[in-house]
Amino acid sequence: MRKKTVGDELNRLIRARFHDVHRFNKALANAFYRAPSRFLRVNPRSRPYEFREGRTPIIFTAPHGSDVIPVEYKKLAPAEEDFKTAVTAKELAKELGAYYLVAKYSRILVDLNRSPNDLRRKGVVSHIRYNDRTEVELNARASKKEKMARVRKYWKPFHAKLAKTLNKLVDEQLFAYVFDIHFLHSVAPKGTPDEGERRADICMGLCDYEIADKVLALYLKQKLEEKGYEVSVDKPFKGGFVVRNSSAIPQVNAVELELNERIMLNEKKRKKLVKDLSKIIGELVKDHVAL
Ligand SMILES: [Zn+2]
Repeated sequence: MRKKTVGDELNRLIRARFHDVHRFNKALANAFYRAPSRFLRVNPRSRPYEFREGRTPIIFTAPHGSDVIPVEYKKLAPAEEDFKTAVTAKELAKELGAYYLVAKYSRILVDLNRSPNDLRRKGVVSHIRYNDRTEVELNARASKKEKMARVRKYWKPFHAKLAKTLNKLVDEQLFAYVFDIHFLHSVAPKGTPDEGERRADICMGLCDYEIADKVLALYLKQKLEEKGYEVSVDKPFKGGFVVRNSSAIPQVNAVELELNERIMLNEKKRKKLVKDLSKIIGELVKDHVAL
């Protein structure tokens, strides 16, 4: 018989209709983030992302939404992922007839939310795992050449697709909107700017309101608060490379949405958030385009 893993134990707990992450025993929560990764044999011609065309000028991205590691990088395990962000981005896109662009591989291989020129410790090839601050030995030892090779193979195709899509949307529909979906720990882990603090339900990364129309951003915040969500702006994160780079294209509004594990790990609450967000974003974009 196969040896039981922490993943099995976790599945058992989820099946037991586990609804509140705070009832989670802390050790198990940590084990969860380090659950076994999935390995995939990579077809060299296959794209390192999943993409779906939409009908509205909105794109949902999830650059950290995968736990998959190409089999030749097996030593990178355990992977880390922004849990449930890929499925959330896809569901939001489906609700709104929008586009989605989701990473096929874990951020441990290459971090799509970092500049390709950032080869430092927490750069495009990270030397640490963000969830538990353990070292990723293979990455810490990687040469500049190896890091650049990963950027070429896994980072560039994702960003080329994003830029092409946004340029096309702006050309055809005048505006484009990027919502970059991430996962936020409910209590800030060690080594973060807000270490030990309880975090809001939703953090909107807006880079000091520089990456999206301020009226639009404040409208989104207000509507979410009316639905009962606690929302912070730029706290603890201001927005990473995906939103900053997207907003460099004129007429593109970008918002990083960091969604709290309190919601993301509770399927009922997550589904409700998808419904609420798609309704609010749909109305917001309709009004904004009409302005
Ligand atoms: Zn993330």
